[in-house]
Amino acid sequence: MYYNNSSVIFLNGKFVKANESSTDLYSQTLHYGYGVFEGIRAYATENGTRVFKAKEHYDRLKKSCELVNIPFDYTTAELVDATYELLQKNNLSDAYVRPLVFCDPNMSLTKPNNVSIMICAWEWGAYLGDKQLRLTVSSYCRPHPRSIKIEAKVCGHYVNSILATSEAKDNGYDEALLLDSDGYLAEGPGANLFFEKEGVLFTPKLGNILPGITRATVLELADKLGIQVKQGLYTPEELESADSAFYCGTAAEVIGIESVDDNKFPKNWNDTVGKKLLEAYSQLVRESEKTLSTKY
Ligand code: PMP
Repeated sequence: MYYNNSSVIFLNGKFVKANESSTDLYSQTLHYGYGVFEGIRAYATENGTRVFKAKEHYDRLKKSCELVNIPFDYTTAELVDATYELLQKNNLSDAYVRPLVFCDPNMSLTKPNNVSIMICAWEWGAYLGDKQLRLTVSSYCRPHPRSIKIEAKVCGHYVNSILATSEAKDNGYDEALLLDSDGYLAEGPGANLFFEKEGVLFTPKLGNILPGITRATVLELADKLGIQVKQGLYTPEELESADSAFYCGTAAEVIGIESVDDNKFPKNWNDTVGKKLLEAYSQLVRESEKTLSTKY
């Protein structure tokens, strides 16, 4: 599903066949989840493929490495170029791109000396589907920011996400909603949360969540559309009394939330601020880049 006999990946500066590439089973990343990754989307536009927010994603990859002491010497420009080349080699346009920085063999709990980078891509439809989501508040909370670097996209953090999503699905819901360790609203397992009340949007402030690139884009779009947004610490009760809500993320894009623990939001999704933002987002990602200089 993710690759076939002709798929190519970028591995440490070279393009190699996906089914002929391998990794060392003693990698520190495999044993301890000590690696970092990104999730990026590319879109077909009138002027060819556009890797959306490519610079922001590779800057975050670099920042994630710095935050957890993983050495990383690629520049954003090199990796953006490699991504465009990768998509071309795989004949992909509308695609999901997954860069992963992983460590050399090391069974000690020490910083790595050497790392590898791989970038792969495949066609991936809307990650959470296109129907509004039925959420449940997870029994798992997001990791405390003093336990990990919550703002870094570290492989091991996603065990928390996998546990939350599996629990939600096992209980018959589409997806989980996680609180922070103080009981305030945090985020989804792979998406940020917004909710609407009397025309104003609310979203958890940075600090206990991944600073989503889609979240930042939604904030920019809301500003352009004259929608007021407040960022703060909000309780599940505040969400319960909201008019509507949505998740946003690179893979999920912008997707409405129908209910949380079977409490339905009263507003029809088509009349919400979220729907307006979904339309603006869908349009923005397919706008062609005018010049190559906007690539980085
Ligand atoms: N929160 C978490 C935990 C995530 O994994 C993601 C997906 N990267 C997001 C939020 C949304 O981030 P972005 O918009 O940068 O994809």
